[in-house]
Amino acid sequence: MQGKSYSFSCLICGNKDKYTPVQETILGDQKGEMIAVECGECAHTQLFPPQYDVAFYESDGQVNNVVKHYGTPQKTLFDHSFIEARRRRERFGDRGIRLSENMKLLDIGGGYGFFGGEMARSFPNAEITVLEPSQTRTEIGAVQMAENGIRPPQFQVGVLDQDFADRNRGVFDIVTMWHVLEHVPDPVGLLNLAMQIVKPDGALCVEVPNLHDDTIMLSEAFRNRSFMEEHVSYFSPATLRSTALRADRDAAVELYGYQRYGIFNYFHWIHFNKPQGASPDLFEGQDRFWLEAHWRTEKERRLTSDALFMVMRHPA
Ligand SMILES: [Zn+2]
Repeated sequence: MQGKSYSFSCLICGNKDKYTPVQETILGDQKGEMIAVECGECAHTQLFPPQYDVAFYESDGQVNNVVKHYGTPQKTLFDHSFIEARRRRERFGDRGIRLSENMKLLDIGGGYGFFGGEMARSFPNAEITVLEPSQTRTEIGAVQMAENGIRPPQFQVGVLDQDFADRNRGVFDIVTMWHVLEHVPDPVGLLNLAMQIVKPDGALCVEVPNLHDDTIMLSEAFRNRSFMEEHVSYFSPATLRSTALRADRDAAVELYGYQRYGIFNYFHWIHFNKPQGASPDLFEGQDRFWLEAHWRTEKERRLTSDALFMVMRHPA
């Protein structure tokens, strides 16, 4: 194991001694020197050595990898992003998050800004801002939205740092991070900054992939695709919650399962032990609604869904 030539340090608790390897191959790791390990102190799972390279995102590297590894056309990725954005908006109501006509919402690491566009479309009087480090992505997103007749949100190229937090303390009704936390070198620090810019009665909404997705146990191919160079951290329900409480020990934390992909995609991974192909099932039809609904509800209830959705609020 080549990871041994680096000194280990847990991204969450700082432990430098005890860790256990949990995955020997990492998708996209050209040099073959990365593994994934579980911290012996706090059980957080992370890449070792961790990699974080903003230049990779500026060049749209992760999206290019999806196109490369799955053969998914960019058009399908955009279509799926619009579906995902709509579902994210619809989900707020299910989780007791109040959306108002004149709210201020910040989407951190919002990529092409499709979620921001969806919110701007649904709430024309709200102030919707997408904070995204990649200028390239914001430009691609603006073009895509214009072509689909969607008014783009406000884009700000940058990251959430202390300077941004100082200038925007307690400003936002809702702050969102959709599949961002697993990419960053300091998840505790990022959540702490995000809570600083949430209004006293506002909410921070975080979605990440779920390390306890049962497909990881049922398909070796899925497991091997789940560990990738882009994801520094791999959160379980327990480690996501404890990370949130390290960031803000007074926060009220709610954790939910959320299943993004459909049951046909799940069957395909298990039966064929390979990806479903260029256009994975997101289930937009009605034909198997009873089956899909039951399966999703159960996966989410058991927290073995493909994603976790967390809401953090300031104490009442
Ligand atoms: Zn740790």
